[in-house]
Amino acid sequence: MTKTQTKVNVKTVERVILPPPVHMVGDGFRVHGFFPSSVLSARRMSPFYLLDYNSKFVFPPSRNLLGVGPHPHRGFETVTIAYHGKIAHHDSRGNAGVIGEGDVQWMTAGSGILHKEYHEEEFNRKGGLFQMVQLWVNLPAKDKMTEPRYQALTNSEMGRVELPDGDGSVEIIAGDFRGVKCPAKTFSPINLFNLRLKKGKTVEIDLPENFTTAMVNIEGSSLINGTEKVPEDNFVLFNNDGRRFILEALDDLTSLVLSGEPLDEPVSAYGPFVMNTPDEIRQAIEDFQNGKFGELEG
Ligand code: MN
Repeated sequence: MTKTQTKVNVKTVERVILPPPVHMVGDGFRVHGFFPSSVLSARRMSPFYLLDYNSKFVFPPSRNLLGVGPHPHRGFETVTIAYHGKIAHHDSRGNAGVIGEGDVQWMTAGSGILHKEYHEEEFNRKGGLFQMVQLWVNLPAKDKMTEPRYQALTNSEMGRVELPDGDGSVEIIAGDFRGVKCPAKTFSPINLFNLRLKKGKTVEIDLPENFTTAMVNIEGSSLINGTEKVPEDNFVLFNNDGRRFILEALDDLTSLVLSGEPLDEPVSAYGPFVMNTPDEIRQAIEDFQNGKFGELEG
């Protein structure tokens, strides 16, 4: 391949974003809301709608259970990725689970569900280091009213690619990397990886040109395409201009890589509902008020 051809295929950096000021979600999640925002609009980030990042934070021991009580969702999926600490989930469909370091829960709210998200009881009592991401994946219009579904993905169930020479590994939460797939079911094409790379090592990442592609540095800083430095806890959005980028770990690195095909459909969102039209939002509120999302004790 000639130099020119290589350059044509480079996925370049559109912007690097500092973690925005934190806000609390309930009393258990201290998050940087990376998007939607004025710079990262819902349209630009499609098929993803929201990303909240609880950067490393030590929660003190607590008698009160920290988290968020019962609340509804409709029209999208919540994907919760734990890096430190433990999170418990319960929903109105009777699904319950605890995820710890390296685990993921993938809840399809679809036509409507109530859930609650708390620190796991023992972790809550003892306190400790907590770090997690919650990503909202929008659903295509035709799937918005799909039956709610819950997928628990323990770390051992994920796809895994060991990089050559022990340089690191890639855990595949959704989609595929170098031919290795993950069992997580998605409604539109999505790749979601945890990439772990040792200090000083590089890896080439190849993702479709037209996919919305971004990365969060969960641990350590990185250098992209030899030029763009991304510090720890920063977010990087790529241009839709090529397939490949080179990632170098400036420290022992853990990055969350997200890549998905844009839905190219109108978005109408209000609080916990992400639909296509204002009428559908009104319907969601009415259905919730009429108890159609089921019941869940606080
Ligand atoms: Mn929720």
